[in-house]
Amino acid sequence: MTSLTDVSNPPVQQNPQVQAEATRRRTFAVISHPDAGKSTLTEALLLHARAITSAGATHGKAGRRGTVSDWMAMEQARGISITSAAIQFEYRDSVINLVDTPGHADFSEDTFRVLSAVDAAVMLVDASKGLEVQTMKLFAVCKQRGIPVITVINKWDRPGSAALDLMDEIRTRTGLVPTPLTWPVGIAGDFRGVIERDTDEFIRFTRTAGGATTADSERISADVAATEEGDAWIAAAEESELLAEEDQNHDQARFLAGETTPVLFSAAVLNFGVQHILDTLVDFAPAAEAREDAVGGRRAVSSEFSGFVFKVQSGMNSSHRDYVAFVRVCSGQFRRGMIVTHAASGRPFATKYAQHLFGKEREVADEAWPGDIVGLVNASALRVGDTIFEGDAVAFPALPIFAPEHFRVVRPADTSKHKQFRRGIDQLDHEGVIQVMRSELRGDQAPVLGAVGPMQFEVVEERMTHDFGAAIRMEALPYQLARRTDKESALILGHDRQVEVLMRTDGTLLALFSTPWRLRNTERDHPEILLEDLAAGA
Ligand code: GDP
Repeated sequence: MTSLTDVSNPPVQQNPQVQAEATRRRTFAVISHPDAGKSTLTEALLLHARAITSAGATHGKAGRRGTVSDWMAMEQARGISITSAAIQFEYRDSVINLVDTPGHADFSEDTFRVLSAVDAAVMLVDASKGLEVQTMKLFAVCKQRGIPVITVINKWDRPGSAALDLMDEIRTRTGLVPTPLTWPVGIAGDFRGVIERDTDEFIRFTRTAGGATTADSERISADVAATEEGDAWIAAAEESELLAEEDQNHDQARFLAGETTPVLFSAAVLNFGVQHILDTLVDFAPAAEAREDAVGGRRAVSSEFSGFVFKVQSGMNSSHRDYVAFVRVCSGQFRRGMIVTHAASGRPFATKYAQHLFGKEREVADEAWPGDIVGLVNASALRVGDTIFEGDAVAFPALPIFAPEHFRVVRPADTSKHKQFRRGIDQLDHEGVIQVMRSELRGDQAPVLGAVGPMQFEVVEERMTHDFGAAIRMEALPYQLARRTDKESALILGHDRQVEVLMRTDGTLLALFSTPWRLRNTERDHPEILLEDLAAGA
């Protein structure tokens, strides 16, 4: 006998297609510092994967507001659908999901959460700048999560550091052993091509006007390259040998274990080296695999559907207020219309309004597989970190709440709007847009907002005014560090005028300090109190 619910939600018994689809998925994000070339590389990757026909339209900086709008502009220009969440394209036999990390000033908790949805990261480095601040921050998250990292040294067409120096920098600052897959022939600024280290062949790049089409390259044997490129070839070949002697050749097991990072050289703006990046993703980046759940079990990809929300976004469509929950599929087949269980509430959740907000057209997502990203529209019941599943219950680990580094007191601009104010702040807290903290001293009308990146405040300001009709006033607080503390310690800290203790809505007590020096002083004066680091994953 089939019950009514079975009709709307037919059981999927070990769909053999699931494993095959999961195996060909590569889900990754690009981590970089602003201006390293992430947007340019994204376009170049799509171009190579033949998802679009010509690159070059969005290289200019003028009038840009960051990656999100770049992608939107690309979408309009190309008629392909890209969102701030993910782009999907096929390359060789694989399906590649490139999940966007907001760069620039949009840098916030969002960026970190996105990294929970990917299986690999491409660390994009500007050859002349090396490892910059934001790259290091994002790298730290990858390292902590055990996400394998592929390094791409970009802008090799411009003068920059020596390749060997960059390898030293990677090794000392990330602790990863760089294992170059290609090695540049010609110094930075004189990019002739690369040695493909596993074949020892020379891939010579041929400039095309403005990189308007895929870069032409020719494959040349080592002997011919030595004759034609002379000293540049000899120098590169010697360095490549040196790397081999120092055990800097690719080792798949060590790469997956987070000990090494394959390195590639590129000039994204000229489409140089881009195909090697795609091939490396397909050949070496991990496929979608069994994901660890909150109790230490593993949900096999071939199990029934499960996924978790890694990002929520409102107001993507300005004509009506919407709320999209982006779900990373972890196991099974996602079928539009399926009724899933929301792990946090135990309630059923209908996925009628699922969208693949990517691909060649803005299409309704009829199905998705492990590794894919699905946007669930009107999913306001779902919070960042929530698990949804079909069949056997599962809950994936909660997403980390990061240590805020910027703090502002927020008040309604018009005190008669305190209801709207309260509702708005609660909703933004719920969506994970900002952390909300309170104390008896400050009172309910003046919560403190904590952000990882200051752009988060702008989002709050904008949304409070437009979505909730409650304009706000904010006042910066002079703190830059937060430490987890407990009730007993809070009593002691209460006597210290330099420290403020607030309770975040998740119940965590946070002690705020203005400088690392103040924190150290407090630790020294009161060794008995609890001041715990709120590192990623805390
Ligand atoms: P993002 O901020 O990381 O997204 O960086 P963009 O893709 O916007 O690139 C920043 C600037 O660097 C733009 O002016 C690009 O044209 C330029 N750029 C990107 N890749 C390269 C490259 O390989 N070589 C050179 N010379 N410029 C590049």
